[in-house]
Amino acid sequence: MTASLITKYAIELIAVLLLALGIKGLSKVRSARGANQLAAVAMGLAVIGLLINYLGTTGIAAGAWLWILLGTAVGGVLGAITAQRVPMTSMPETVALFNGCGGMSSLLVALAAALYPAALEASGAVALVSIVVSVFVGSITFTGSIVAMAKLQGWLSTPDWMQSKLRHAVNIALAVAALVGAIEMLRTSGGATGLWLLVVASGLLGIGVTLPIGGADMPVVISLLNSYSGVAAAAAGFVVGSQLLIVAGAMVGAAGLILTQVMCDGMNRSLVSVLFGGALGASASGGGGGGEYTNITSCSPEECALTLEAAERVVIVPGYGLAVAQAQHTLREVTRVLETAGIDVAYAIHPVAGRMPGHMNVLLAEADVPYEQLKEMDQINPEFPATDVVLVLGANDVVNPQAKNDTTSPLYGMPVLDVQEARTVFVVKRGMSAGYSGIKNDLFDLANTSMVFGDAKKVLGDLLTELKDLGLGKK
Ligand code: NAP
Repeated sequence: MTASLITKYAIELIAVLLLALGIKGLSKVRSARGANQLAAVAMGLAVIGLLINYLGTTGIAAGAWLWILLGTAVGGVLGAITAQRVPMTSMPETVALFNGCGGMSSLLVALAAALYPAALEASGAVALVSIVVSVFVGSITFTGSIVAMAKLQGWLSTPDWMQSKLRHAVNIALAVAALVGAIEMLRTSGGATGLWLLVVASGLLGIGVTLPIGGADMPVVISLLNSYSGVAAAAAGFVVGSQLLIVAGAMVGAAGLILTQVMCDGMNRSLVSVLFGGALGASASGGGGGGEYTNITSCSPEECALTLEAAERVVIVPGYGLAVAQAQHTLREVTRVLETAGIDVAYAIHPVAGRMPGHMNVLLAEADVPYEQLKEMDQINPEFPATDVVLVLGANDVVNPQAKNDTTSPLYGMPVLDVQEARTVFVVKRGMSAGYSGIKNDLFDLANTSMVFGDAKKVLGDLLTELKDLGLGKK
């Protein structure tokens, strides 16, 4: 073993450790920023390790330096520009695009290995099976992620025939074609006919599986595709004999799968129903949970401010509507005023509030809300009976008591925030329209609930003025 190879392995080992620490750190809001930087350093080290591996080589291998540096520079600049420019609300699309890039990279590595087998470090059955897996998963991830991104951007909608059962037949036919391609590749030790059949069939399968899925289910699919991109990278690692790629790919694959499961649990849906059942949406209301509102009480921001003034403990429940209204900064001003008046403020974070994992955490972090005030569902639920006022801001499904009380409701079984246990609940939303699930919310009919109608940013702005008029916020 040469000195440069030993150095490369040592650097890769450090990179793997840093990546593992980075992924672990991402699970806590407080450590997430540093963890992300740690993972970036790990990737930087991986590139350095690769460059060292080519030290002193001549011929084609020496040219690898240039390609690696060029790829790093182009990818780094594009990544930095994207990170600066993309607004928080477009994060799911961005993640989808990055997953697609990951899938495409693994696909290209596998294609290069299949077309130029002489350049491979690994050989024989392991390399061949790895190429097949990498091409299959890489193609599905690439096309599926691009479709997911285009749907979220509103560039693509589901054609009518894709909503029918016919789509299952088409997808099964594509899966069979991909299987035939894979078998043909293995039989002919990487023959071109099998390879291209596998590339095309699995690419079309990625489109066929993702296109019918409803827009609001897309975050779950994106998380699953993220897991696939990890699997494809791990397979590509076997193809080129890179331990780093194998370990990193396996970690991403497992983390993506766990996240997908957490999201499905949070929505009380099975992965099968997300992938094959179409959108939850309005159709769900037919299965129970519908009906008319009979006891709606509404009030003005002024009345809301008077109740808040008398409170000792207030819990804020942020939801999708808060993100839509971009009202996080105004909210922070309101809570600052309450805190200055000696009122205890906490934020109740439901695991699937909003439209992507951690949506509310990121939104509130943008407005400098202290991490200590963010309480997870299991932590805050027992505290609602001792809470004076709950302010529900653009949230709906995550505070629907039907999930606990109505066995016929499509939401039944979904874990929710027990806000109705508090003394008074104010719900800020624009009208009586339903949330993502498309069903009635029994909370709105309860005697201790008052609706404050209006855009969340406007209502919070008015609330702030009223609180200040009451003299709150002055030291
Ligand atoms: P939600 O149930 O979708 O309700 C959002 C509410 O916000 C709506 O009722 C809407 O009512 C209101 N709203 C919209 N724009 C507003 C504005 N500008 N100002 C004030 N209110 C506004 O949201 P959620 O309670 O956060 O629940 C999230 C839902 O998404 C769950 O069903 C979850 O399963 C699903 N989901 C989450 C994820 C995830 O990863 N987080 C992924 C997929 C699906 P009006 O129109 O009347 O204002």
